[in-house]
Amino acid sequence: MNRKQKPKTKKSIEEKGIVRVTYIFLGLFVCLIGYIVYFMVCKSEDTINNSYNKRLDSFADYVVRGDIKTSDGKVLAHTEVDNSGNETRVYPYDNVYAHVVGYASKGKTGLELQGNFYMLNSNDNIFVQTYNDITGQKSQGDNVVTTLDSTLQQVAYDALGSNNGAVVVMEPDTGKILAMVSKPDYNPNTLASDWDAIISDTTNSCLVNRATQGLYPPGSTFKILTALEYMREHPDYANFTYDCDGTLFIDEYKIDCYNGNAHGSVDFATAFAKSCNGAFATMGTMLNAGSFNKLCSDMLFNVDLPVSFEHNKSSFSFNNGAGTFETMQTAIGQGKTQITPLHNAIIASIIANDGVLMKPYLIDHIENCNGVNVKTFKQSEYGKIISENEANELTTLMRGVVTEGTGQILSYGDYEAAGKTGTAQYDSSENDHSLFTGFAPASDPKIVVSVVVEGEGSDGTKGVAVAKAIFDAYFSR
Ligand SMILES: [Zn+2]
Repeated sequence: MNRKQKPKTKKSIEEKGIVRVTYIFLGLFVCLIGYIVYFMVCKSEDTINNSYNKRLDSFADYVVRGDIKTSDGKVLAHTEVDNSGNETRVYPYDNVYAHVVGYASKGKTGLELQGNFYMLNSNDNIFVQTYNDITGQKSQGDNVVTTLDSTLQQVAYDALGSNNGAVVVMEPDTGKILAMVSKPDYNPNTLASDWDAIISDTTNSCLVNRATQGLYPPGSTFKILTALEYMREHPDYANFTYDCDGTLFIDEYKIDCYNGNAHGSVDFATAFAKSCNGAFATMGTMLNAGSFNKLCSDMLFNVDLPVSFEHNKSSFSFNNGAGTFETMQTAIGQGKTQITPLHNAIIASIIANDGVLMKPYLIDHIENCNGVNVKTFKQSEYGKIISENEANELTTLMRGVVTEGTGQILSYGDYEAAGKTGTAQYDSSENDHSLFTGFAPASDPKIVVSVVVEGEGSDGTKGVAVAKAIFDAYFSR
């Protein structure tokens, strides 16, 4: 039966029109709400943290900047307000956290930049905020609680002493950065009055965070990568042998072992433990440039590191057309290769964590001014970089450095450290940089330590001594 079509009346046409308009407005309203939510959730932090955004100043008109704290509750940056409402940013530990915390005057750096949005945002009790709005008072901004450990930071700072250089300490299984030190440093409390002197001193560059931005030749710490590439290309690597008389000649090119020391007959593991340059330069001549480049690119050379703070890219270049001398130099971490102390910590972290890199991070959570947690930053995996077998094999090699090689002062600790030392030549003088990267305990790594001590490589042990002070402090509690 055909249904009778209802005749279109003028009224029903009008009703349809009204319904259509209502839906259009409803749709637009939903879009608007959606955009506002999207902006609040996703974009507002970027927009507010953008240093070009003039709204930043207006936020500070309504909110007293929040604190920056260590994971154990020490206040690293705090804003004091006097009776007249004048605000002063105070850094209770002076120089100790200078680079990692950064500064909030003269532009913003470090955690003062990374946490800017949160510290200028208040999640205080809504009634208090409303009262403050009505009475024209500022609300108290939220606090940034970092992953930093005050004990380890102080130990790292003291261990570096009067030397220039950098230290990074992190947890390989979470990515939490426990300490980050850079020297020379500055006092953030007197930055404004010291500013002219600081920026006119171009030799020290004390504002640069060397831990994340300092580019150094990796020296022998790079033998970790040369060893891994050699293992991949030569499954019979355990049969490698080399007779070291202290100096290797290939064609007219010469590589000395450290201080010209003869290591005698070494196998693969002993060459690594004793850091035999002749053995590793020889291995270098047996490597495929393409796959070595691939390995180094997987290990995050020439790319941004997966961190949300300022840093420099490390660099590695090794072409098929590289000459013999460049090949020998590259294999022992000299040549054109450059690395940041943070990146060396990342490489040790990958090995310590069975080949998996957890993204390094500095902000653990945000709390309101009453200490109530308002946002937690979860640890996150960057990816599996090397196989578990490779990680285990490299751990064994690095453990050998401590038990029979160049890192023996670590064997006095009761924590079974593993690592690789390095002495990196950076000019024609005898003042080499002293490096270390490693972790402990070797069987179940809890912390990774990466050290660069500038110009102190003459006895080759300064970097590992700094690392020892940190391991000692961590495992004695
Ligand atoms: Zn040697």
